[in-house]
Amino acid sequence: ISHQRLDRFLVVNTDLSKREIKLKLAQGKVLVDDHIVNDGSVIIHFFSQISLDGVSIQDNQPHYIMLHKPVGVVCATKDDKHITVIDLIRDNYGDEIANSLHIVGRLDLNTSGLVLLTNDSRWSSRVTSPEKKIEKHYRVTLENPISTDYIAAFQQGMYFDYEGITTKPAKLSIVSSHVAHVMLTEGRYHQIKRMFGRFRNPVVGLHRYAVGNLVLADSLALGASRDLTKEEVALIF
Ligand code: URA
Repeated sequence: ISHQRLDRFLVVNTDLSKREIKLKLAQGKVLVDDHIVNDGSVIIHFFSQISLDGVSIQDNQPHYIMLHKPVGVVCATKDDKHITVIDLIRDNYGDEIANSLHIVGRLDLNTSGLVLLTNDSRWSSRVTSPEKKIEKHYRVTLENPISTDYIAAFQQGMYFDYEGITTKPAKLSIVSSHVAHVMLTEGRYHQIKRMFGRFRNPVVGLHRYAVGNLVLADSLALGASRDLTKEEVALIF
């Protein structure tokens, strides 16, 4: 991007909301080439030096990354016990890019599969927005055999006492006696494990293979990551 609005640049390259950015601008915390700028509509150029709270914001490129998360890696930026998805990204992209990213829809520690990361919060809020109902696709391996009763129960929704909510219609299809595909349009705490828990059928393997039309690339080894193609980024709009 050769030139763009200052407020847009700040949205893409920081974790701040539009409101927080307005406030920072009003407080004189944003410098463009060493001059305080209060107006977010100012057009900045590729070589403009932007700083926020005295810290220079170097990376003015949006990044959209898919990661094949292994079991045992945690979806967090920092963790004392486990390797994080950001650690895996760091191996591939370096510190500066890795530290600028946020996780677009987390997976549990013992879940594997597709995790998206970006520094473009407009894009990520479209992926996670409940109104968009982006479908998350999982392959689930169960301890006990699955019966066709599950299909209607998942479709109907289940009431979770703890949150006081009923789950949105979910699509379950049986792949084999112990394997199902499940499609969710939301992501409640341990949702899939809890839904199978209703049938006293423990989940022994959980893998996310797609988010909307974005499919985890077969060629992507466990722990590996790559940039989304332009076409893949455009799948979420
Ligand atoms: N449901 C779960 O229980 N865990 C996940 O990681 C995703 C969906």
